[in-house]
Amino acid sequence: MQPMMLRSFPRILVCVMVATAAAGCARQGFDAPERRLIAESRGGMMRVLTIADRSDSLFLRRSATPLTAEAVHSREFAQLCRSMLATVRNPENEGVGIAAPQVGISRRLVAVQRFDKPGEPFEVYVNPEIVRMSDSVALGPEGCLSVPDLYGRVERAQEIGLSYRDTAFVERTETVRGYTAVIFQHEIDHLDGVLYIDRLVGAPLRPHAAPQEK
Ligand code: ZN
Repeated sequence: MQPMMLRSFPRILVCVMVATAAAGCARQGFDAPERRLIAESRGGMMRVLTIADRSDSLFLRRSATPLTAEAVHSREFAQLCRSMLATVRNPENEGVGIAAPQVGISRRLVAVQRFDKPGEPFEVYVNPEIVRMSDSVALGPEGCLSVPDLYGRVERAQEIGLSYRDTAFVERTETVRGYTAVIFQHEIDHLDGVLYIDRLVGAPLRPHAAPQEK
């Protein structure tokens, strides 16, 4: 996701997701095409898949495969995390969250900027699941790096219960609220092939009508 400050909206979420290739339920570590894509990134920025391209669009609609312990403990995993963070922090197209399918890796991995923590660090979450959603919802603007030149309003739960594995593959649970909870909902949607445009309330809007601020 990417935040954009517009005159009419306090914050827009633009999301970048990392997408990898296909799935296969019983994969252990990363497969050869995944390893090749990760190696080519060299820990730097990766190409972001967008719905403007047909094959990218089909890829973004896949359901991503969970990561195994073997994959998470691999050298490729550390390199993929660095590359996803480099991509979401691209000064020319900055985001607040990214999911692996958006960069061509169809695995259940997201990076989220924790606006609810001191220093607002980016953190990585393996196999994240939303296990609870609050009844209270809020309508807010979102955008996505995989959906260029549009944004729109989406209704999201204001608080979520989150279950995930950390980078040591240890199981964790957490309650997340507010804007950070919205980012998690947007990114985890990507892992199921869902884009924010599937959840729009009202018509999509074009951000170029208003100046962008950070
Ligand atoms: Zn997105």
